[in-house]
Amino acid sequence: MITSSQLTSKEAIELEDKYGAHNYHPLPVVLDRGEGVYVWDVEGKQYYDFLSAYSAVNQGHCHPRIVRAMTDQASKLTLTSRAFYNSRLGEYEQFITDYFKFDKVLPMNSGAEAVETALKLARKYGYEKMGIAENEAKIIVANGNFHGRTTTIISFSNDQDARKNFGPYTEGFVSIPYNDLQALEQSVKQPGVVAFLVEPIQGEAGVNTPADDYIRKAKEICGQHDVLFIADEIQTGIARTGALLAVCGKCSCEGHCERQAATYTRPDLLILGKALSGGAYPVSAVLADDEIMNVIKPGQHGSTFGGNPIAAAVGMAALKVVSDEHLAQNARKLGDIFRAEMQALVDEFDILRLVRGRGLLNALVINDDEDSSTAWDICVRLKDNGLLAKPTHGNIIRFAPPLVMTEEQLMDCVRIIRETIIEHING
Ligand SMILES: *Cc1c(COP(=O)(O)O)cnc(C)c1O
Repeated sequence: MITSSQLTSKEAIELEDKYGAHNYHPLPVVLDRGEGVYVWDVEGKQYYDFLSAYSAVNQGHCHPRIVRAMTDQASKLTLTSRAFYNSRLGEYEQFITDYFKFDKVLPMNSGAEAVETALKLARKYGYEKMGIAENEAKIIVANGNFHGRTTTIISFSNDQDARKNFGPYTEGFVSIPYNDLQALEQSVKQPGVVAFLVEPIQGEAGVNTPADDYIRKAKEICGQHDVLFIADEIQTGIARTGALLAVCGKCSCEGHCERQAATYTRPDLLILGKALSGGAYPVSAVLADDEIMNVIKPGQHGSTFGGNPIAAAVGMAALKVVSDEHLAQNARKLGDIFRAEMQALVDEFDILRLVRGRGLLNALVINDDEDSSTAWDICVRLKDNGLLAKPTHGNIIRFAPPLVMTEEQLMDCVRIIRETIIEHING
């Protein structure tokens, strides 16, 4: 097939290696085109995408409705900055706050910026509404967290690669074990605690999936101690785990949760990114009610690109696709099938330890240690066999395909994974 690139894979890799900073270690595949669940490399080889750009491409690659919204807006008005109003932002803000049932939204671009925004909001709320003494605010986080790459965020990471030699670190964070309600109960009692920031499932940590009632009970504990509950749903949100948000639990609504829904844990601050644009554009957001959001006044926070008209148009289109195409329901159904199929492989092959996850955010844990190269080696073989996935740690493979996948495509992928495992065992 004809591709837009003149370069071979080898040449493209050499260019990145020579001229780009080495802050990633990609699988050796050079992608040139994508459509739905598929991507193609520069030589025209087709792959199933089982990473979905870390769950940014939930709606599938180059979704026509999202691309159209983006290109239409791009040819009309791209950026005004927030020094002026623009004709798309208000409409988007009304749409997204109605969609997730919060009073207000603060639009940003990258996920890390949205996390920073939530941290700043929580601190300011603590000083102005909770009576915390200046510079005494503490935010509780969980061990194994991943919330982005800024200096403040890596200050409360316990991943040595992420933090070492990037100090001095930002103060005011207390890290407790994940999925440990007792530790939370103890730590919220400390003076100065304003918020608990948590991922409903820790994606980067290896799809670390907590007990079913962890999030609900954690929110209860926060509520009892007047501590804000901040959900980082940048990776788990927007239908990925088989519900509109992972905090929705087993709720089966089609993206229009009522605030009172029995299984819905409503965060005080909700952080979204990634699939908020379907992977077309950097779009992130923090949602909260007036009482919290109104602590930010003009000049106190912002971003040149945050809330730009392209982002607004893309964000609306991306969320409409999620509900119109019932992606949460599809993720739930296919996720159940996928885990059952992977469990069968775990039972069959000693090299596989367990499968875990929810919806279409899953991980296969390999019987090897964290520093081994087994997961990487299997991912290279998967690539050769037409399926792209990326290890998190030496022994964990995350599987997160676009949510527009069909059952037939999923079963084809299960076949590829099974054959690849057998190939790996046989050397
Ligand atoms: C990806 C991710 C982030 C950071 O988003 P960026 O857009 O890469 O800055 C934060 N939190 C979670 C849970 C993520 O998965």
